[in-house]
Amino acid sequence: MALPTVAIVGRPNVGKSTIFNRIAGDRISIVEDIPGVTRDRIYARGQWLAHEFALIDTGGIDIGDAPFVKQIQEQAEIAIDEADVIIFLVSVQEGLTNADEKVAQILYRSDKPVILAVNKADNPEQRQDIYDFYALGFGEPMPISGSQGTGLGDLLDVVISKFPEKRADEADDAIRFSLIGRPNVGKSSLVNAILGDNRVIVSSIEGTTRDAIDTKFTAPDGQEYAMIDTAGIRKRGKVYENTERYAVMRAMRAIDRSDVVLVVLNAEEGIREQDKKIAGYAHEAGRGIVIVVNKWDTLDKDNHTMQDFENQIRTEFQYLDYAPIVFVSAITKQRLMNLPELVKTVHENQIRRIQSATLNDVLLDAMALTPTPNVRGHRLRVYYMTQVAIKPPTFVVFVNDPELLHFSYQRFLINQLRSTFDFTGTPIKIIPRKRK
Ligand code: GDP
Ligand code: GDP
Repeated sequence: MALPTVAIVGRPNVGKSTIFNRIAGDRISIVEDIPGVTRDRIYARGQWLAHEFALIDTGGIDIGDAPFVKQIQEQAEIAIDEADVIIFLVSVQEGLTNADEKVAQILYRSDKPVILAVNKADNPEQRQDIYDFYALGFGEPMPISGSQGTGLGDLLDVVISKFPEKRADEADDAIRFSLIGRPNVGKSSLVNAILGDNRVIVSSIEGTTRDAIDTKFTAPDGQEYAMIDTAGIRKRGKVYENTERYAVMRAMRAIDRSDVVLVVLNAEEGIREQDKKIAGYAHEAGRGIVIVVNKWDTLDKDNHTMQDFENQIRTEFQYLDYAPIVFVSAITKQRLMNLPELVKTVHENQIRRIQSATLNDVLLDAMALTPTPNVRGHRLRVYYMTQVAIKPPTFVVFVNDPELLHFSYQRFLINQLRSTFDFTGTPIKIIPRKRK
């Protein structure tokens, strides 16, 4: 599940975000788009041929008010630290600049593969002008055009040819989870408390890129877990590590590597915008989700406190109606013992497979309960459904016309599935398909 990572670097205005959007395309959401969740377009998944990868636009990670040269140097450092393959982007229309050379100087220090792409080569003459960039010392420049979309296929062919071999640490039975949340919600404290309770075996596995540092432990019941490191747990003292966009990118990477994501909120501070962004990404990526309200010890509680907090979460995170909520304290360790077990349950649910025959009984009952809708004189007909994937459980529904299977009826089918089978903690995906 550790996706190979590609970073785009280059001075401002060469076309990094244009290329990023071209490569990331619309393939962002696995489950559903959530209105109101604004996207940080600095990190996305891309795909070329059979290869999936993570893509970072380092230009989107601004380093506070550092001077211009410092900014681009830090961004190049991020690429070196985070990526398996680096796309170094320059522009033929502005030609070779000092700033390009500053970026190159940083990239020389790395042994990561660097592919030099010359953007804005929109026509044949401009494609002839790319040879000046040989001087940067990264081999043959590849002409591309973000606005025309040309050259990208050739570029991606080279990119995927440089991906590392599959990592050994992926081939185990450990359930991978991460704790994600704003600074100071108590992630590190929770990590330490969880490890303290599960002292059996703890080991760290270091991979080639920075994010592949997982802590493994075995719970008393013998289940293995791998806890995925996020920013804040292991700080290495680089300037960019303290910027918010970097933290968001690290969180998204950790989510992509997790089976189950613990979205950590701070009981003292309530729900913030950044919490929604993180939870929204985890949902759209189709991960299992548990909402963990930490610092529960800090509140003066009465009989309603927990219910009120839960109501507030359900209102603010309507799309996460499937996620269990736990109220914990890293300090008093209240309810922490149950957390690994809950992660295990969610994992069981996200890999659950339902037989087609059983599914179709559910479908018949559902349609008896709520007949399929009529849309402008056309009745939706649902013939049968079948599960095609896990993580998240994904169901293809065969219908007369996919256009007629609206969101509300999809919702209804999902709710019927949830009330029949235990899918607590996992999103469910429905794919309407026309029966041939
Ligand atoms: P970034 O700062 O490196 O992320 O650059 P942007 O992606 O924001 O692009 C900077 C400008 O260059 C924008 O006005 C883009 O429309 C333009 N641009 C991007 N790619 C191309 C291209 O292939 N050809 C031309 N002519 N313009 C482009
Ligand atoms: P992180 O930035 O999310 O990793 O947060 P930390 O684990 O570093 O915690 C931030 C602060 O909150 C520290 O001072 C912790 O001692 C405190 N803290 C963490 N968990 C709890 C908790 O459950 N209750 C209380 N009262 N304080 C906590």
